[in-house]
Amino acid sequence: MSERTDRMVGPGAGGAGALVIVGHGTRSAAGVAQFAALVERIRRAGVGDVEGGFIELSRPPLTDAVGALAARGHRSLVALPLVLTAAGHGKGDIPAALAREQQRHPGLRYAYGRPLGPHPLLHTALEERIDAALAGDDRAGTWVALIGRGSTDPDANAEVAKVARLLWEGRGYAGVEPGFISLAEPSVPDVLDRLRRLGARRIVVAPYFLFAGVLPDRIVAQSRAYAAAHPELDVRVADLIGDCDALADLILERHAEAVRGDIRMNCDTCAYRVLMPGFADKVGRPQTPHDHPDDPAGGHGHHHHAHPVGGHHHHEPPLPAGHVAVVGGGPGPDDLITVRGRALLDAADVVVVDRLAPQGLLAALRPGVIVVDAAKVPRGPSVGQDAINAALVTHARAGRRVVRLKGGDPYVFGRGHEEVQACTAAGVPVTVVPGVSSATAAAALAGVPVTHRGVAHEFTVVSGHLPPGHPDSLVDWAALARARGTLVLLMAVDTVDAIAAVLLAHGRAPDTPVLAVQDAGLPGQRSLAARLDEIGAVAGGSGVGPPAVFVVGPVVALTDTSGPPAAPREGQRSARASA
Ligand code: SAH
Repeated sequence: MSERTDRMVGPGAGGAGALVIVGHGTRSAAGVAQFAALVERIRRAGVGDVEGGFIELSRPPLTDAVGALAARGHRSLVALPLVLTAAGHGKGDIPAALAREQQRHPGLRYAYGRPLGPHPLLHTALEERIDAALAGDDRAGTWVALIGRGSTDPDANAEVAKVARLLWEGRGYAGVEPGFISLAEPSVPDVLDRLRRLGARRIVVAPYFLFAGVLPDRIVAQSRAYAAAHPELDVRVADLIGDCDALADLILERHAEAVRGDIRMNCDTCAYRVLMPGFADKVGRPQTPHDHPDDPAGGHGHHHHAHPVGGHHHHEPPLPAGHVAVVGGGPGPDDLITVRGRALLDAADVVVVDRLAPQGLLAALRPGVIVVDAAKVPRGPSVGQDAINAALVTHARAGRRVVRLKGGDPYVFGRGHEEVQACTAAGVPVTVVPGVSSATAAAALAGVPVTHRGVAHEFTVVSGHLPPGHPDSLVDWAALARARGTLVLLMAVDTVDAIAAVLLAHGRAPDTPVLAVQDAGLPGQRSLAARLDEIGAVAGGSGVGPPAVFVVGPVVALTDTSGPPAAPREGQRSARASA
């Protein structure tokens, strides 16, 4: 068993070196300029390769920013949403845009950073803007109206209320009241009115906004209108947070968190996972961000066309610390793992991996992930199952998130349940994620259906690990010989000759077609067909080696000799030894 750490070094691997700052976009030229200046400021901080892009309205578009980083060899990015609170843009729209970039750049991965606020750096910046507006006038006689964007997401609005409270704590203002410029109450005039009735004479309206835009302009306009109607009041509007060192420092902090894989999002009060009065319809619902007509990959011509991105709501890692997930990785290629398995892998601190698990996924693990190689090569040196079980339990007890990455499905000849039992016996919480088993996938990838209407109404998956007649064998080969359906043999490279003989002896037809599929789904995939009475000699003569499955039965005759139904991979060979 070997442990490798600090994966993903070198510029091509991306590593911690690439940061993309994602803005929503604005019609305000000043806002775009502030964004560009901030990206420049971050670049000067020297954290690596940095780009910034917008998901709509402004240039450069996100796709250009990601494209530039991808062109420079980065495959693993930190994506930081330039949002103060986690609302629709941060939870839905930006992840959706990033998902489109992943479609454009296969293999691209990103760690998604937390929203910026609430954060003391921002509160200090707000305090400075308020002080500038006060120009020496005393805080004790000053009320602050903190105006946020406003959202249909109650959690996001609550964040603004929290910031108002934190801004008030210890700073000596008469009071700080939250309000919203759109989508939420109280509005700017409502807050100003509330403060007036409380006896306020001097009010500073502090926009809780990063950069210039339509909404901050509206805050100014509404404040002026209210002031004009109430000449007895002294109403001033503070500057926006804007491009400044404090904001840059905060972004660097969020970046560092994402690089460490230490993103602690508070999802306790998120309407998408917790029932909140009046928001029952949101629980568990995939977010449906609105259309981004500027994005050629996303636009379908309908306004507010829904792109469900349920999997992209970035919560805490799905795998809690100290837990083990036994994950089926599929037959070998990187993209036949399940979405759930992939998400758990992304969250892992430790990955205990088999030889037949998709090796390509290891290259994309976060830096610092411990990879334990539990290579179990047929007939080769193998780590004892006890050692694997012990590794799972030990790492989990050390508080790590452990993924046991296995080939195919964990419960199909994978000894997965032994690992689950070992964890359970040790009191370690464990979960299983099914996988695409080679038992069906290898045949499918070679163009053979294990069942077909009118041809086979059953398929039986059998281990060829023990030859027929072996005292420990639990297989009734005679019954399988009499059956008419499809037989799928795993781990049978060494035993296929003996298995064919016992099947023939008990009555399977000698001309039953058999297909050997080796390295299914991998660049070297090859398949080889032969009659049942010849398969042993043919497979041996052609050097069929593990991993391979043998598919026995009339369904094999349905093979399309032109290749598998999916796009054939390069280097794929199809040898037919016999018609
Ligand atoms: N749990 C795995 C099977 C483990 S037993 C699964 O569900 O797929 C190992 C056997 O699986 C190999 O001997 C071979 O028969 C089969 N196998 C696994 N990956 C394969 C692949 N890419 N191509 C062909 N056979 C494969």
